[in-house]
Amino acid sequence: MSTDSPDLPIVQHWIGGTLAPSSGDRTAPVYDPALGTQSKVVALASQADVDAAVAAAAAAFPAWRDTSMAKRQAVVFRFRELLNARKDELAEIITSEHGKVLSDARGEIARGLEVVELACGFPQFLKGGHSENVSTDVDVYSVKQPLGVVGIISPFNFPAMVPLWFFPVAIAAGNAVVLKPSEKDPSASLWMARLWAEAGLPDGVFTVLQGDKVAVDGLLNAPEVRSISFVGSTPIAQYIYETAARNGKRVQALGGAKNHMLVLPDADLDLVADSAVNAGFGSAGERCMAVSVILAVETVADALIAKVTERMAGLRVGDGRREPDMGPLVTAQHRDKVASYIDLAAQDGATVVVDGRSVQADGAAEGFWLGPTLLDEVPVDSRVYTEEIFGPVLSVVRVSSFEEGVALINSGAFGNGTAIFTNDGGAARRFQREVEVGMIGINVPIPVPVAYYSFGGWKQSLFGASKAYGPAGFDFFTQEKAITSRWLDPSHGGINLGFPQNG
Ligand code: NAD
Repeated sequence: MSTDSPDLPIVQHWIGGTLAPSSGDRTAPVYDPALGTQSKVVALASQADVDAAVAAAAAAFPAWRDTSMAKRQAVVFRFRELLNARKDELAEIITSEHGKVLSDARGEIARGLEVVELACGFPQFLKGGHSENVSTDVDVYSVKQPLGVVGIISPFNFPAMVPLWFFPVAIAAGNAVVLKPSEKDPSASLWMARLWAEAGLPDGVFTVLQGDKVAVDGLLNAPEVRSISFVGSTPIAQYIYETAARNGKRVQALGGAKNHMLVLPDADLDLVADSAVNAGFGSAGERCMAVSVILAVETVADALIAKVTERMAGLRVGDGRREPDMGPLVTAQHRDKVASYIDLAAQDGATVVVDGRSVQADGAAEGFWLGPTLLDEVPVDSRVYTEEIFGPVLSVVRVSSFEEGVALINSGAFGNGTAIFTNDGGAARRFQREVEVGMIGINVPIPVPVAYYSFGGWKQSLFGASKAYGPAGFDFFTQEKAITSRWLDPSHGGINLGFPQNG
């Protein structure tokens, strides 16, 4: 992809602690989605840029690894203070490239800050174990050491929060990071790179490589890159997982989602309707933890749909800088793809209760608008039900029982998040035990775990065994050594070729 708008600002790489132009001339457009116009161009890395980024990170790694924990901790603390003080600046950047409303952009930074705060306490997570006198005069202990250069590849929908799930933990643990953000909203990463520099992070420990598949493949193939943390759509996650694993790298690849909300007849329908609207249409449905399917037990479905529809009528769609409820979609292409599912739903026999294509938005006519959309009686063999839509389209599927609802959720390809709404503690407990999903909400629609737990789904929502942040994050970004030690005195010695046994 290239652009013919030479006067627009160019979003560059950050290599070796400074802005770095691309060695080639490939670029991609960056849009302001509420205006519907191109606002910037982003550099797309060539293989030479990948090599420069990886070399800078590799050069910076040994000194950062050997920097004392106390000094590393001071840098992470300073980054936390700066991010907290300047978060509004970052929120404006996110809104101008992603389109989400400002309050939502501030929300994603707040959740990212949680991980930085967790990382401030990293020494607790880097402790090893120690066993004394396991055999006569022999001690065994373990230490956790950083991996080296680690690669992070992030999606468009959380340009700050998703990178923040990984890099504070990776850096605190002593690694050097190369981050490849989404080319759709690349400026947030660059802004955070400047903040790291201001916080005193040595040059090269945090690198931003702008780009597309060339940059991603470059990281996947670079021998110095020891691990890959990926978040994005399922087909790409699977490709990343397989390629990185084949190349001998540690890999965690978080994929797409189709999150269901099961509503039992005893639930508080007003709470359910509020939650469904918030979780279905917040950030225009471009959240991996968005609710995209309401599974309504038949007896309450009509009443619930009436309440949801009533609330949808009051939603204000517009330019995120004017603080409406919902902003535009990220690109015209993505908006058109999401909108195409509305026609498909009608063709497949669903009822289009609210059609967002006729929305009146408070913003430029050219903005990438699609209003909140509600589909009822969506057939479960329709692509509208089986595929991730990633937009403001909420489907209702009517089920006859709790069991049918759980069976449907468990039959899906994804397993990121799910929620049950009920006042029956026994039903909620059974749901939590039987449902095959990584993150579960009980009367909570978007159950993103706090930073000291870990984030990740099951099945095609996560390839690899490692979740993001929390204890799992520190495990991912460190490797353990076990040391067996004996301090010799003159009584030891002698030849014995047998396998070592304790005594
Ligand atoms: P995407 O898969 O299109 O892109 C993700 C990253 O992969 C980007 O950096 C992109 O440049 C890169 N990429 C794209 N095509 C590539 C290719 N062919 N080869 C190599 N790299 C490639 O995803 P997106 O549209 O940016 O983000 C939305 C998706 O991310 C949704 O599917 C959403 O569910 C998912 N997501 C998942 C989680 C989670 O926690 N599971 C969180 C956020 C987003």
